[in-house]
Amino acid sequence: MASDLNHNQYRVIAIDGPAASGKSSVSQMLSEYLGFLHVNSGVMYRALAWSVLRAGIHANDDCAVVEHLRAIDLCCGISDNKATLTVGGVDPGGELKSSEVNSVVSAVSRVAEVRDVLVAKQREYLNVADIVMEGRDIGSVVFPETPYKFYIDASIEVRAKRRMKEGIVDDLAQRDAVDSSRETSPMVVADDAAVIDTSEMTLDEVLAEIIDRLRVSGLDALE
Ligand code: C5P
Repeated sequence: MASDLNHNQYRVIAIDGPAASGKSSVSQMLSEYLGFLHVNSGVMYRALAWSVLRAGIHANDDCAVVEHLRAIDLCCGISDNKATLTVGGVDPGGELKSSEVNSVVSAVSRVAEVRDVLVAKQREYLNVADIVMEGRDIGSVVFPETPYKFYIDASIEVRAKRRMKEGIVDDLAQRDAVDSSRETSPMVVADDAAVIDTSEMTLDEVLAEIIDRLRVSGLDALE
């Protein structure tokens, strides 16, 4: 299913980048500023990883992972202007950020059939709201037609420090390596994305830069 922005009244701002680059915080701030819905696509891959772990399935067993995804009810919605997600009616909440999930999420995200299912769910959001969507392939694959694309980056040292402060074990280099080398929609900088290196920037500075660029691009929500 391809999205067709020309026939859609809603707008999407794509925010891609590696883990701990600051994209979640800035996507949240930007969505509040614009009054758009914030959708974190990583949460969908994390929910599958969480469910795979609970089912005792090996994350590298692609067939079993795909079969599991088909069997569960991974439901994405909106409530109180916030994107929601449940698996079999259960909200996994903070468990999605666990070290265990961090250690297997890139493995389940590699699988082409997994991406087909979750990308379709991501595209559905644009039928109902203006969105700020963050991920790895939003500007390159999920919504390649959007004129509003950003790639938020930071040095591996800065990103590792940010994760350490959160007290979460997360092998960023390993995740980066799997995410950017997989065959299906690897993490890439979309040709027409604005790249912002946040290593030496505050979140407010990143937000201000994105808003400036959106204004130059003519985003009417800023008029
Ligand atoms: O953004 P976050 O770090 O929560 O994403 C978790 C993982 O989900 C990534 O490391 C990646 O494997 C996968 N992901 C993806 N495509 C997206 C968003 C996340 O493959 N659009």
